Amino acid sequence: MQLLEGALRSYAWGSRTAIADLCGRPSPSKHPEAELWLGAHPGDPAFVVSDGARTSLLDVIATSPESSLGTQVLPAFGPRLPYLLKILAADEPLSLQAHPSLAQAKEGFTRENRAGVPIDSPVRNYKDESHKPELIVALSPFDALAGFRDPHRTIALLAALEVPALQTYIDLLAGAPDESGLRAVFTTWITMPPPAMEALIAQVLDGCVKYLSGTSREYAQDVRLVLEIANIYPGDAGVLGVMLLNRVQLQAGEGLFLAAGNLHAYLRGLGVELMANSDNVLRGGLTPKHIDVPELLKVLDFRPIDPPIAVPVQCGRGLARYETPAPEFALYRVDIEPGVDSDLPADGPRIVVCTEGNVRLKDRNSTLDLAPGQSAWLPAANGAVTASADDAAVLFCAADGVATGAS
Ligand SMILES: [Zn+2]
Repeated sequence: MQLLEGALRSYAWGSRTAIADLCGRPSPSKHPEAELWLGAHPGDPAFVVSDGARTSLLDVIATSPESSLGTQVLPAFGPRLPYLLKILAADEPLSLQAHPSLAQAKEGFTRENRAGVPIDSPVRNYKDESHKPELIVALSPFDALAGFRDPHRTIALLAALEVPALQTYIDLLAGAPDESGLRAVFTTWITMPPPAMEALIAQVLDGCVKYLSGTSREYAQDVRLVLEIANIYPGDAGVLGVMLLNRVQLQAGEGLFLAAGNLHAYLRGLGVELMANSDNVLRGGLTPKHIDVPELLKVLDFRPIDPPIAVPVQCGRGLARYETPAPEFALYRVDIEPGVDSDLPADGPRIVVCTEGNVRLKDRNSTLDLAPGQSAWLPAANGAVTASADDAAVLFCAADGVATGAS
């Protein structure tokens, strides 16, 4: 096991305090800090630190795939780490998006290759052949939108705004309060020509302001979000789109799982994110990045759902696993009691990150101390590792979903 140095990524929506505070660095930071990548992604790999030398985790795995990945992960996913772990800190909403299924990713990747779209082109949708299920676990209150909610609630929200121009959509949803109604309304909104869209958004915003000046409070939170998003992304179809989605407010320790086709947007907060090692994102708005509406519409799952909360299930003393169906990854939270050794998942390639307190990792020959924000690489060949602490501490451990697979 070795110390792992993550790759810090600065995006405009990032926080200047959350990651710096977690890591005990001066805060606010000079630039917004959006994501700390702890993995072996070719775009920004983490570095293994050993005796003062730094080696890319990508190179470590390429040089010794079997000892890095183990006898189950290597044949299942090839000579690459199947997941990417991140710390994510959002101060502003970041892009309305969805990810393709495995079949859609394979088809899209082949199609764009055939069309000769360079792999690093900013308009390329499919950067690889993988799906990208993802799980976010809140480290602080974390706000997101995820999946189409019960259309009846959306009808009530739209009606509460008392905007005549919304009546067509209320009628549409009331006539088909299901997948087909949601598809019709969302598709109409997101493909509307800009002048019509701007006119509709202007009326909706007027309705929002009037609603908030009234006495009813039932939809105040949804309405404030519409205004907030319109302020950051004026004229964006996402301003209307958010009215159709589940608002999810996670408390620290709660998780959200985003399966293929789930339309989602992270709004604000600090979390640990674990996903299949893929870059396949289809965006519909709320971002300066590449948007491809027809492609997004092809992959979206319009079936209304409850918020897809991932529940941690206790699987050992202080050890809980967030249940997801993804074979590429499994995320564990380790609550370490003072003076008690906690066993980490023992198989496959693992990456741990300390989020609270000071942790001591122990394997059969060595120890490694981690402070908050620090992480470590535990290759498959490492075998069993325990974690202990003098005071209460918390560690997250990413593993594959095959070698450690309960599901
Ligand atoms: Zn996503």
